[in-house]
Amino acid sequence: MNNKFNLVQTNTVLEHESIKPYHDTLSRPIIADIIRDTLEKLRIELKNNPNFSPSKDEIIKLCEKKIKQKSNLPIKRVINATGTIMHTNLGRSPIDAEVWDKVKTLNICSNNLEYNINNEGRGIRGEFLYSLLSKLTGAEDALVVNNNAAAVFSILKTLAEGKEVIVSRGEQVQIGGGFRIPDILREAGAKLVEIGTTNIVTLKDYEEAITENTAMILKVHASNFKIRGFVKHPSFKKIRDAIPNNIPLVYDEGAGIFDESMSEEEHIKSALKSGVDLVCFSGDKMFSSVQAGIIVGKKEYIERIYKHPLMRAFRCGKTVLSILEKSVIKRLNSQGQFKGYCETLLAIKPEIIKQKALKIIENIEGFEVIEELVETGGGAMADTFYQSYAISFKPKDIKAVIKFMHNLDIPIIPKVKKDSVLIYVITINDEDIEYIKEVLIKIKNGNFLAV
Ligand SMILES: *Cc1c(COP(=O)(O)O)cnc(C)c1O
Repeated sequence: MNNKFNLVQTNTVLEHESIKPYHDTLSRPIIADIIRDTLEKLRIELKNNPNFSPSKDEIIKLCEKKIKQKSNLPIKRVINATGTIMHTNLGRSPIDAEVWDKVKTLNICSNNLEYNINNEGRGIRGEFLYSLLSKLTGAEDALVVNNNAAAVFSILKTLAEGKEVIVSRGEQVQIGGGFRIPDILREAGAKLVEIGTTNIVTLKDYEEAITENTAMILKVHASNFKIRGFVKHPSFKKIRDAIPNNIPLVYDEGAGIFDESMSEEEHIKSALKSGVDLVCFSGDKMFSSVQAGIIVGKKEYIERIYKHPLMRAFRCGKTVLSILEKSVIKRLNSQGQFKGYCETLLAIKPEIIKQKALKIIENIEGFEVIEELVETGGGAMADTFYQSYAISFKPKDIKAVIKFMHNLDIPIIPKVKKDSVLIYVITINDEDIEYIKEVLIKIKNGNFLAV
């Protein structure tokens, strides 16, 4: 039977030349589902509309359109033109290319992840990495878990379950989607003891809050906001000196800042020197490596966390540990000169960025280069902005042009400001200049610009 309701076979579309490239990005079964679904809808339309008779080519084109839409779902490369250097939604800090190349072979082969070759036996996962991290920070010991949220949680669960944790009211923060300090404490079974006010906390507040049930003083870096004006809190050293030795002072630093020009609260080494017992931070913010939660500090506390059953759930695999290992070695070998992704970009003179922007729009009408501020993002250096430049244009229809930019082979993610679209240049690689140029020409020729 070959009536018109048979349309074409799912398999014919699936194996069509125009569809095949999507096998790699979406997988055959997902594509087959989309095709079946599209054909089913066409059959219904055929039944209802006797004049409707799409050609085979039209059907394939329609399927391709639906498939193309889905092809934006798998993780793929995009160009971050948002003006937020480490955009959490765009993968935070990119991994150093040299580091990435170095870990490839060991990841696609067997490796000594948990095998001590010298002892011909079982080793400790991450042991060498921990010694590197200790060297880097000056800490007695180190430990790595899946992310900084897991680091905070495992510290609390191990050292403070069933006991009290003192946190200043100005530090009960929410970091990104769903990470709230009071919630994490509750989940870890610790009791939150709030002290001070939003803007002021004193040494006396800390001293008076200590009871026989106090497990820890937790300091949390306000990653994504800043309180200005009449703000006071005691230094780490003052707190450390005022509280009993057996109560750990823990600092959730978050960003992973090693810039020695920063203040005590912003700089991991000096926090440890001032008497903080444990510091934890993310691996993929200013630290510029892979997603991980890094804990450094006193051996006795690290060992307890390491031995907690939770570690089995939070431990990292070979990929993360090997990338971190190479990242830390690169840092150590730079003899203090290392700059991560964000620091490297911020060290470029704004004039150079302006020149790059001008080069991109050269000979293309309808675009201008304007002075704009950028920020680090990723929960670091909140409310601090740096002078930079962006390419700006006014589109006829903002939604339409954003959709166009999002659906490019390599999507470009710009920022919308009032009736303008801004393409921040600081995060655009030199190798992508020609690509951006071509896109701007397409935007112009595609009639997207307001006249
Ligand atoms: C980013 C951040 C976290 C959460 O870290 P993840 O690596 O995203 O889990 C926790 N605390 C602070 C202070 C942060 O800045």
